[in-house]
Amino acid sequence: MIDLERFFTGSDRTLVTTHINPDGDAIGSVLAVCEFLDQRNIPAYPIIDSDIPRRFSFLPGRDRIVTPKSRRTRKPFNRVIVLDVGTEERIGNVRDLISPDATIANIDHHLSNHGFGDINILRPECSATTEILWDVANELGFDITESIATNLYTGILTDTGRFQFSNTTARALTICSELLKLGVRPEVIADHVYFDNTYDDIKRAGTLIADMQLYHQGRISAIRLHRINEVQDTDLVLDLALSIRGVQIAVLIAPIPGGKSKVSLRSKNHVDVREIAESFGGGGHTKAAGFRFRIHPDEMQERLIPILVDAMDNGAK
Ligand code: 5GP
Ligand code: MN
Repeated sequence: MIDLERFFTGSDRTLVTTHINPDGDAIGSVLAVCEFLDQRNIPAYPIIDSDIPRRFSFLPGRDRIVTPKSRRTRKPFNRVIVLDVGTEERIGNVRDLISPDATIANIDHHLSNHGFGDINILRPECSATTEILWDVANELGFDITESIATNLYTGILTDTGRFQFSNTTARALTICSELLKLGVRPEVIADHVYFDNTYDDIKRAGTLIADMQLYHQGRISAIRLHRINEVQDTDLVLDLALSIRGVQIAVLIAPIPGGKSKVSLRSKNHVDVREIAESFGGGGHTKAAGFRFRIHPDEMQERLIPILVDAMDNGAK
């Protein structure tokens, strides 16, 4: 943490970024850190190489975030804070904005993070990157305003799957309790994040569930998207698939340009889906991981299902 202090000292314009297809933790982390920088009068530039999903557009400060494409100047940054990212490739085209001799701080909770920053604050025991930022705020003396609190809470809420996954620790809940005292309104946040789906989105989710395939005596469920953004919130569909009695692993495969696949994996048993994602060049957490791979979704599914069956049987208790 001491080392991190120098990222909040001086006046260097600072790039603050996270992974492509950002989730609540990624966006909440970026916005909280921008407010930390504001408190020290350091110019903060939140840049993410993806659109911000509508359900996160209520997050305080969201209008500050731009994409690399929409920037007028390409002047590179010498100071960079990368949040919620395990491998540098995951920041996409934001990489082009970083000077080769830039100093990078990497704050993250993914297990699959080998520390690509000059300073790495890696805490896989934390439920969310915003949980780590709670400590950063307290140790470095930032004022946790209501807007920072909202961003931090949203990260923990979404990364714990609404306080349902195994990363829902006593500590995470204690921090959320503190955040509530600082003004967070859980019902307002939930309304934006979870209760604002469009009618069409829910109908499409229903169709995807209806077309779901089950394997291995109903222990593996596979969902196929016809196009990448077919539903706004893929977690909605994955949660439903995993909620089926007997299903232990849910997989969602989507086509991405170039005949490739984007795969999401979720587990509710002993199978470490991160290991499987890593074997395809991806990463994530034990129970939620993902990757992109160079083959068509049909072939991807054919290759992946036997691997999942094997992982399930060989690790069986
Ligand atoms: P999702 O399936 O929702 O895209 O991601 C689930 C988890 O896996 C997240 O923690 C995310 O960061 C990680 N993840 C998803 N796709 C990739 C990927 O292509 N590479 C890496 N390293 N991690 C990924
Ligand atoms: Mn996260």
